[in-house]
Amino acid sequence: QTVGAFFDAAARRWAKSDALIVRHQKVRWTYAELKRKVDDFAAGLLALGFVPGDRVGIWSPNNAEWVITQLATAKAGLILVNINPAYRLAEADYALNKVACKALVTASQFKTSDYVGMLNQLTAEGRLPHLQTIIRIGGAASGMLGFDDVPGLAGPEHHERLTQLGEELQFDEPINIQFTSGTTGYPKGATLTHHNILNNGFFIGETMKLSEKDRVCIPVPLYHCFGMVLGNLACITHGSAMVYPGEGFDPLAVLETVAEEKCTGLYGVPTMFIAELGHADFKKFDLSSLRTGIMAGSPCPIEVMKRVVSEMHMEDVTICYGMTETSPVSFQTSPADPLEKRVGSVGRIHPHVEVKIVDAEGRIVPPGETGELCTRGYSVMRGYWDDAEKTSEAIDAARWMHTGDLARLDEEGYCNIVGRIKDMVIRGGENIYPREIEEFLYRHPKVQDVQVIGVPDPKYGEELCAWIRLKSGAACTEEEIRGFCQGQIAHYKIPRYVKFVDAFPMTVTGKIQKYLMREEARRELG
Ligand code: ATP
Ligand code: MG
Repeated sequence: QTVGAFFDAAARRWAKSDALIVRHQKVRWTYAELKRKVDDFAAGLLALGFVPGDRVGIWSPNNAEWVITQLATAKAGLILVNINPAYRLAEADYALNKVACKALVTASQFKTSDYVGMLNQLTAEGRLPHLQTIIRIGGAASGMLGFDDVPGLAGPEHHERLTQLGEELQFDEPINIQFTSGTTGYPKGATLTHHNILNNGFFIGETMKLSEKDRVCIPVPLYHCFGMVLGNLACITHGSAMVYPGEGFDPLAVLETVAEEKCTGLYGVPTMFIAELGHADFKKFDLSSLRTGIMAGSPCPIEVMKRVVSEMHMEDVTICYGMTETSPVSFQTSPADPLEKRVGSVGRIHPHVEVKIVDAEGRIVPPGETGELCTRGYSVMRGYWDDAEKTSEAIDAARWMHTGDLARLDEEGYCNIVGRIKDMVIRGGENIYPREIEEFLYRHPKVQDVQVIGVPDPKYGEELCAWIRLKSGAACTEEEIRGFCQGQIAHYKIPRYVKFVDAFPMTVTGKIQKYLMREEARRELG
């Protein structure tokens, strides 16, 4: 099935259930109401002359229009391209031209990003030759259509055409070009089909036992697969309500939303949960409605997972591991797993996905040993858009996706993500996985958040450097941190450098960009 067909069926089945709640826009729509908005906007896109396969970009923080656009483009057979809301001029220029977007849905501004201003500048300089239509959320502007004016462009023939497309569109056609987070460098555009992401969303919702009774609070960006697949598609395939606390992430808004909307599920990357648990008013909120949720996107510290289970009442919380290129999830813990696996692994392989762990020569390693994680199955992307070279580096001839992550499987199939290959530190010939030291330092009572990187060293090749964010009001010295490690972890794993910071360089998806930390450390060390 296509995403559009599935959504229509959901809208019939759960017509009167809450579908979408967007707090900062005061939006509250049932499935039937959302379907009407989606159909009207989709028909308007057809009236504008777009045909299946055309690329439509979206450059906006989270809002109701994002959800409408996601579903409307799917129904009209258009390929939605998610443009990172933090992008500036050069990056937007690159992304829009890389995929030759014909239309772009955009907000006016977000934080310090003035989208309209940047687009006007790019247009004036003739740098957007493919772009025919800009649709602005919040009303028309010079050279731009208003989002709410698009439905009015459609006549009965466009609505008829939309119904026809429901029969014609194929599930194995591309529906999205999703850019990766850009954690390790420049983001890559993964081409994904209906089949890829609809199934993935469905299986995620199955593991979480979502139903029309669930209300899932989604503070992660929609531009990323976490929001649009784990969020929207898992909810839509199960009749659950999607609840958006705001345009961007704000821990207070999340706590308020969960308490006031009686959310049963909550999503986030680890840094988001850390911020919520660490909020001064955390204890004031009644979070007892929570039952489930997802932590994903980066290594999920065991200490944080335990607090999520006990202090946020998320007994059934699951961890997901995945990547944009695989639609995204390939491992997920299940509420049925023993607690130690649920906080200390990323669970077992998803249905209909194969896994293997290989050494540097490509040989499968035995259980318990570390190697590169490879996955294969329905969820693997078509490829990177218009980039055969990068695609063949990532997906081999037998269609195995090489994740670039180091992992270990145990006898029962539970997986531990050891870290990214690019983040591994080699000190004096010893392989060190920063994750292990981070997990250890999280146990220090004054540590709020910690990230460990390798920095160049003339004697050992690399040395470890820990960046630490202390809990509010705490004071600590480098010696104290090293003393904490002494006798507890091997001497070569004790960070040579400790740096106390207020923040880490981060992507919009809340991931820490260690490559930027390494660049800064190199500069500091001269
Ligand atoms: P880029 O590829 O542009 O550098 P990225 O890899 O961060 O960025 P995503 O596709 O958003 O872009 O993220 C996938 C990566 O996130 C995985 O390859 C893995 O390194 C990491 N990841 C995701 N979930 C987990 C998890 N539960 N535990 C550990 N790491 C995770
Ligand atoms: Mg990646």
